[in-house]
Amino acid sequence: RLKDGRALAQDVWSIYNAANLPADCINLGQGYMNFAPPVWVKEAAEEALNQVQTNHYSHPKGRLRLREAIKNFYGPQFGRELDVESEILVTSGANEGQYSVFVAFLEPGDEVIMFEPFFDQYLPSVTFNSGVPVYVPLHPQTSGDKPTSNDWVIDFDELRRAITPRTKMIIVNTPHNPVGKVFTREELEKIAALAEEHNLLVMADEVYDSLVFGDKEHVRIANLPGMWERTVTVSSAGKLFAATGWRVGWLVGPPSIIQPTLAATTRIVFCTNSPLQEAVAVGLEQAKARGFVDQQRREYEERRAILTEGFDRLGMKYIMPDGSYFVLLDISSVHWPEDYPFPQSVEGRGRDFKACWFIAMEIRVSSIPVSEFYCEEHRTIGESYARFAFCKDVDTLKHAVERLQGLR
Ligand code: GLN
Repeated sequence: RLKDGRALAQDVWSIYNAANLPADCINLGQGYMNFAPPVWVKEAAEEALNQVQTNHYSHPKGRLRLREAIKNFYGPQFGRELDVESEILVTSGANEGQYSVFVAFLEPGDEVIMFEPFFDQYLPSVTFNSGVPVYVPLHPQTSGDKPTSNDWVIDFDELRRAITPRTKMIIVNTPHNPVGKVFTREELEKIAALAEEHNLLVMADEVYDSLVFGDKEHVRIANLPGMWERTVTVSSAGKLFAATGWRVGWLVGPPSIIQPTLAATTRIVFCTNSPLQEAVAVGLEQAKARGFVDQQRREYEERRAILTEGFDRLGMKYIMPDGSYFVLLDISSVHWPEDYPFPQSVEGRGRDFKACWFIAMEIRVSSIPVSEFYCEEHRTIGESYARFAFCKDVDTLKHAVERLQGLR
């Protein structure tokens, strides 16, 4: 089953894991925060640990309290009354939710379209389930010195050509990891039209939905006419409540998608950990009244500014993201001595793997090589970029930016 060599190769997250890097290296690599979840969410977790029931199995659909909180928080965003019994499924992080959809729906040889660069996890999740990934690149348009994530566009003829009678599903990740692109309504309408024409399922990975900046609007493809019935939307408490290690995510979609996926998730994990579901329920119940999401978005906007202004000072090109918490830095100008000692895991990989390692060791700031978000054929496109995460406190980002001036 694991015949795909790519799926078996060491994953990028474990190569650039903080444990392999110098202790004083500032981690802007793997996307997790260096601050705690909000105190009122953490306290709810503590309280849940102190109760008997919340330490035991949940219903495989997720705890009712959390499903109701999801219904109340997201219902208005989907413009519909969500049914907690058949349209919401709590999963062990967004990853497991996506994996369960593939388990439930992919038949051997079914093709799944994903836009490149793509979040690396999609590839093995599809191939482990005997699916075939099909790649449609986002093309960066040259727009002078100040490229933005918006410049990365779909060639719709190319997308149309990628669709075959075997195409089962298309993954639409907005806001996008790693580019930070927020898909426009027009783009999503064109994707939706193709999905309808060819009867495709749509997996809308919207885990960064709370992080959309400036005047950009997060559009849910599930809300476009005719799309609810064929779309499953993926989300996660990890990003919303700075709790990536809690592994609490959820899926929202029609019963025809949620029910088979529930059967899969029940057999994979049975249920998601109970006390943290309870805490996330409290988080969603109170987020609005506390003005939490808007406040957090403003904080992320400030963090984005610190990092990108640092890159401006450095005079290096980067892609200004409209959403998510990642910035792609153009690393073509970074060079290292020919005999630089790279570890085995980096040796023989793309130029970006080396650049990221070199920057982590010499500048003491880690990042993630972007070729990992491309298929083998297109890897060289990603080799020009390193992905820096700005889900860090302001002082840490300022410190990182100072160090990065050493790249001059
Ligand atoms: N989504 C996070 C990132 O892109 C973490 C991914 C992971 O650890 N698998 O950095």
